[in-house]
Formats: sequence, C-alpha cells, structure tokens
Amino acid sequence: MTTYTVKQAAQMLHGKQISAVELAQEYLAAIDTKNPALNAYVTLDSERTLAEAQAADTLLASGSAGLLTGIPIAYKDIFCQQGWRTACSSKMLDNFIAPYTATVVQNLLDAGMVTLGRTNMDEFAMGSGNETSFYGATANPWNTAHVPGGSSGGSAAAVAARLAPAALGSDTGGSIRQPASHCGITGIKPTYGIVSRFGMVAYASSFDQAGPMAQTAEDCALLLNAMAGFDERDSTSLERGKEDYTRELSSPLKGLKIGLPKEYFTANNSSDVQAALQAAINLLQAQGAQMVEVSLPQTELSIPAYYVLASAEASTNLSRYDGVRYGHRAAQFGNLDELYSNTRAEGFGSEVKRRIMIGTYVLSHGYYDAYYLKAQKLRRLVANDFQAAFSQCDLILAPTAPTAAPLIGSTENDPVQAYLSDIYTIAVNLAGLPAMSLPAGFSAEGLPIGVQLIGNYFSEAKLLGAAHQMQLNSDWHTKLPE
Ligand code: GLN
Repeated sequence: MTTYTVKQAAQMLHGKQISAVELAQEYLAAIDTKNPALNAYVTLDSERTLAEAQAADTLLASGSAGLLTGIPIAYKDIFCQQGWRTACSSKMLDNFIAPYTATVVQNLLDAGMVTLGRTNMDEFAMGSGNETSFYGATANPWNTAHVPGGSSGGSAAAVAARLAPAALGSDTGGSIRQPASHCGITGIKPTYGIVSRFGMVAYASSFDQAGPMAQTAEDCALLLNAMAGFDERDSTSLERGKEDYTRELSSPLKGLKIGLPKEYFTANNSSDVQAALQAAINLLQAQGAQMVEVSLPQTELSIPAYYVLASAEASTNLSRYDGVRYGHRAAQFGNLDELYSNTRAEGFGSEVKRRIMIGTYVLSHGYYDAYYLKAQKLRRLVANDFQAAFSQCDLILAPTAPTAAPLIGSTENDPVQAYLSDIYTIAVNLAGLPAMSLPAGFSAEGLPIGVQLIGNYFSEAKLLGAAHQMQLNSDWHTKLPE
C-alpha cells in the first residue's frame, strides 16, 4: 500500500528500491481504486504523470537527482501548471487549460517532483467544507458521510487516504490547517510573502498563501525548502535569503514557552477538541515546554473583519471573469452587458456570488468607511494582539477548529454557521503569521482532530521543529483510515 512519507519515498528512490515510474504507477493505481468514492482528485492525466516520472528516473540514474526527485505530489486545483486544466473547481474555469506554470509548482518541478493531478476544492477557495466545488463534494476518508474540511479538502483527503505522499494547498482563512485537522494530516500556512502567489488563482490577495500538506512536519519542512523563495513576478513576495526549514527539527522543547490564548479555550469547543488540546499540552509539558496564558482580545471580531476584507478583495479579483478573454462564456446574449451578466450568472456558484455581492457592497460609496475601512483597522488590532502575546511566549497552541469534521450538507442553508467555524484560523491570516495544524487525537466517532501551532513572523523552522518533536513522541499522525 502507498503509505510512504516523502522522506521514506526519497530513501526508496535513492536506494534504488523503487523507480519513480513504479512509484507513480502505485499511486495512480490507488487513485483509480479509491478516488471514485472520495472525489479527491478532479483532474488526472496519467500520461503526463508517467512522462514526468520517466524524466525523474533519468535524473536519478545520472546521479544528479535532488532529495525530492521522483516523489509524486498532488496540487490543489488553484495552481496553474502549463497544459493542465486548472479550474479552481468552478464552472467558470472548467475549460481553462493553464498556459503557464505557477512559481511554486515550477519550483517543485525543478526539484524533480512528479505531478499526480489536481485536487478538489471549494469553488475559488471559498468555503470550509469542500462542498461548493463545481465537481461535487469531496468525502472525508475517515468517514465518507463527513466533509474533509475546506477549501483544500481534496488535497487533505488525498494525503489522508494515501493517494499522494504530499499535496499543496492554499490558506486564505484556514484552508490548509482546517482540512488538515479534519483529515488527520499535517499542514503549514507560511508567513505571508515567503511563498510566491504567481500562478495561484487569486481569491483574496492580501491573505492567500500556499503551503504543503503531508503526513508529517518533517515532510512539510522538506517541501517548504523547495517551495519558498523570492519571486519578482509576485509584488508581495518578500526579498529574503533562502532558509533551511529543517534546521530546528532536532531542537529540544525544553524551556520553550507555549502561549494558550484564553479566548480559544472556551465552551465553543467540542469535548473531543478539548481532549485533543489537553493531550497536546501534556505531550509538550512532558518534553519540558512551559505553558503560559495569553490573551487575543479581538478574536471574535476577526470573523466579521475577515469576511468583509476577503469578500472585498474577491469581488475585485473575480471581476476578470467576464466571458471575454478566457473561461466560460454564455451562449446567449444580446449585448455586452448581457454577455457579462449571463456569463457570470452561469459560471459562478451561489457561495461565490454571495461573496461578490458582500464585497461589492462593502466597497461601495457610502459603505466603504463603515465596513471596509473599519475592518482594515480591526486587522491592525488583531496583528497587534499577536505581537503582545508573542512578548510572553515563543509559540501559541490553539484548536484548529471548534469541532471534528461536520456531516456533508450540515451547513448548506446556513453559511454563517460555516463562517463561524473559522474562528481559530482566520486571525492568523489577518495578521499574516505562519501557523500549522497537526493531528492530536480522535473524536468519539473516530474522526481525526488536529491542534494548531501559531508562530511569529518567519518562525516556520521553529513551528516545524516543535511539531516534529511532538510527532516523534506520539502516533496520531501514523493512523490510517480503514
Ligand atoms: N473558510 C474561509 C473562507 O471561506 C477560508 C477559505 C480559505 O482559506 N481559502 O473564506
């Protein structure tokens, strides 16, 4: 069975126990068997996958292969790759074949990684359950009646079901961490600006950030090493030197100060989530970490601030889908206005339309000051809260989500309920901080539960190191769905 971590797969490839083509074939066969029930992948192209694997084998044979050469990876349907359909799981882009490749995908291709396909997601990354996809919902591999989380739910389900050793996701308000939590895997959303957004379909540009999703923190560190770096084609890319994100993997936790935000440890959390948090606290304390209470007073206001700002940015970003240049075009229209409105009425799903309407409203003359500007001010206060907290601790431990994965369909008629479930992930994006989710237990029904570690800017290595130490001393991340 395809249970390899990235690290194990690398060892097998370099030890010549398996070829890149054989490895890709194993994953493609597993996808063939299991994907119909999960709907984790929306686009596959085995010919391309095997051609990439063949090229990786040539590199491996020549002795010039890197650590990641020949390792298969799945991409959320938001990352452009030349020649692959990149639809953002929307009818609007269902016919869109990317003419160029996202920088982060190119970086992984340059490292020799092999593309397995594109994974299902909430349409334009708007959602928390992977239910708004034009291609239908994705099922949680642990229990197919439940959502895998969203919006990178296809990537999380693919890694959890071992249909890929790793996947890329994007996180605008929690979309890497929350599905990682609901599927029992590990995922990190880096500091805003360290991973290029070029070629990643834009949702809310000042929040969007790509990150790796894998079984372990160690694998995430290996992937981030290849993904991150300055890109002149992304105007928000940070010009910083290359970093080694594995450098703190063996740092001991003794003396590390872990902040516990009092606003995050409330009766809102299910008892299973409380138990997972307690288990994580015990694990950290057993290794000599110290717990300190911290406060993030603006927590509740971060949800309205985020949904105002992200919707505003989305309404602007999505104005490019007009039926003129690419994507869906309505067949019937009498004039230019009708071309726009019919195309957009047909091409977007209801959640995307809701966001565009909210965004247009809060940016409109007369409401701009009351909503958009106010939300921007709140964004600053949220970032300040974190800086005050980090004056007292090194990392913050928090729930990733208030509950385990909900049932498919449970928030269908109640979008606000879904928005509220983002309470523990969204503030991190408002502040632009790095954060990750790692498995820390199971609910009474056997669904995985993750906990979140949040760090100050550029503390990825420290986060991944702490998570790795936790994973060396626990086995939640090794458990497999039946
Ligand atoms: N659930 C949030 C939203 O719908 C976050 C999505 C994301 O991170 N892409 O906007």
